[in-house]
Amino acid sequence: MPIYNAPLADMKFILNDVFNAEQFWQANEKLAHVDAATAEAILEEMAKFAQNVTLPLNRTGDEEGAHYENGKVTTPAGFKEAFQQYAEGGWIGLGADEEWGGQAMPKMLTVLADEMLFATNPSFMLYPLLSVGAGMALNSYASQEQKETYLPKIYSGEWSGTMCLTEPHAGTDLGIIKTKAEPNEDGSYNITGTKIFITGGDHDLAENIIHLVLAKTPNAPAGSRGISLFIVPKFIVNADGSLGDRNTAGPGSIEHKMGIKASATCVMNFDAAKGYLVGKENEGLAAMFVMMNYERLSMGIQGLGASEYAYQNAAQYATDRLQGRSANGVQSPNKPADSILVHGDVRRMLLNARANNEASRAFAVYVGQQLDITKFSTDAEAIAKANNRVALLTPIAKAYLTDTAFDAVIDAQMVFGGHGFIREWGMEQCVRDLRIAQIYEGTNGVQSQDLIGRKTIKCNGEFIAEYIAEIRDFANDLDTDLNFIKDATLDVATEVDMITQHILERAKENADFANAAAVDYLHAVGLLSFSYMFARIANAAKNKDGQFYQDKLALTHYFIQRVLPDLHARIAKIKAGAEVLMNFSEDYFTTQA
Ligand SMILES: Cc1cc2nc3c(=O)[nH]c(=O)nc-3n(C[C@H](O)[C@H](O)[C@H](O)COP(=O)(O)OP(=O)(O)OC[C@H]3O[C@@H](n4cnc5c(N)ncnc54)[C@H](O)[C@@H]3O)c2cc1C
Repeated sequence: MPIYNAPLADMKFILNDVFNAEQFWQANEKLAHVDAATAEAILEEMAKFAQNVTLPLNRTGDEEGAHYENGKVTTPAGFKEAFQQYAEGGWIGLGADEEWGGQAMPKMLTVLADEMLFATNPSFMLYPLLSVGAGMALNSYASQEQKETYLPKIYSGEWSGTMCLTEPHAGTDLGIIKTKAEPNEDGSYNITGTKIFITGGDHDLAENIIHLVLAKTPNAPAGSRGISLFIVPKFIVNADGSLGDRNTAGPGSIEHKMGIKASATCVMNFDAAKGYLVGKENEGLAAMFVMMNYERLSMGIQGLGASEYAYQNAAQYATDRLQGRSANGVQSPNKPADSILVHGDVRRMLLNARANNEASRAFAVYVGQQLDITKFSTDAEAIAKANNRVALLTPIAKAYLTDTAFDAVIDAQMVFGGHGFIREWGMEQCVRDLRIAQIYEGTNGVQSQDLIGRKTIKCNGEFIAEYIAEIRDFANDLDTDLNFIKDATLDVATEVDMITQHILERAKENADFANAAAVDYLHAVGLLSFSYMFARIANAAKNKDGQFYQDKLALTHYFIQRVLPDLHARIAKIKAGAEVLMNFSEDYFTTQA
């Protein structure tokens, strides 16, 4: 059975030492109810839930999968009870406003709680995750009456939420969706269309499901400017809040897929289903983006959780597995062979994963802090700056954290040799379950387009320039005993600054340049972000006694010497330009040899 021990010491180090979270919370009136002791107690409780409840259901959930029968979806054995326990523990509303029954905890903290659940059972985690995302979109754009009707029930777990965007012919390009919304005289709409790939579209965990559906009203402008957002409940909610008739919205089937098999991915049919407009007509995409941006950061946390889980199991296996002898002579003469930990290549794989976990965790908390500033600060300038930072870093959080996590999970699987490929050790499930994180919520390729296009070229590099300025300020203030990370971070900042200018120039000359450069640019900005995180980690660890802190510094050295050099390859690929791709004719891809 795979193991998982919540990395509480690392989490507390990031919150307390790296980000001085308590000081940040106490300085803000709206967060003053949170202190380090409260945060630690929450993390410890979540660790128990993850280790004792969701971890044991991970493999059984994968093997049993979600079921579809007679128009109804049921979740694997144990999921219903676990969801009830999760809801009763108040976890769904951990970060939600108190007004709606939430606990108003900062994002800096909730990302760490989410990490543990994603590590131990990503399929399970997706059910409450979609509820929280739907709650956030409603909180930002719904009417007061809609908030009062839906939010308390969503955060209590009595009802759940979904996000219905994708259609068979429209995934990345939502401007071409066909789902229609016809207005009724009573102010409601009839929603008709088919959505596919809807996570948690139907299940048996909650008594009602609140679908947030994108659709087009008659005469809506073409493209994404003509999209509206609707609440479509599975059961119509009566005026007194009780459940009324079954709505004509339901699952047509569930997908049979590579991983996250316990998460029901549904084809949803809306047959003149009753829907209620959220916000204004044709402004639905902005509302949906509240949900999508939340989910995108969460996908990065899915990556982090999987990478931590894979690392822990691989490190344990490497300690126990005896194969070959050390190049420096026999290390364990009383055993038939040395542990595979004596081999440099095995260490490379483990340290790649470990470096990824520590930098990703710090980065998730950093982005969480920026989100907390946007939500809780009263300083307009600080809010505007944090908004720009969140806009810039959301695609990094989604795509870079899942790309690096997938590499880490593959490395961890390789540590097991052939045993990584068979079920028993849990690694093949981990790989299968994580792959989707690079695909859904907008593929990582499309996230990269967002970074290079909307978040960089469109603002003439302003967002990245502000970020680089902050990183330079931080690095320049480091003590001389941290010159190794200071110099590395300043160098990366210069390289990313220069390649950004290069992109801004060449994108003017060649319309294909940015699209072809996007993924490599995302990885370059990701490496800059990880350097910044390691600079912060090293700064927090320096001058502190104990192996725990020495290890942080040693891992920082590892990152600089064995991970960061990838930057040069990324930059070379960006400079190679688009012609080398675009010069192939379409026939080259379509003509069979
Ligand atoms: C298990 C699962 C759960 C999901 N859950 C949900 C959900 O709850 N709600 C929901 O609405 N959807 C959901 N989805 C859908 C998911 O978000 C989409 O599949 C994803 O966004 C990609 O869209 P697509 O599949 O249509 O691919 P396409 O858009 O057809 O893309 C195909 C390829 O082309 C590339 N591409 C497309 N446009 C560009 C461009 N402009 N530049 C460069 N490359 C481009 C893409 O990167 C990709 O590699 C889920 C999908 C799965 C598999």
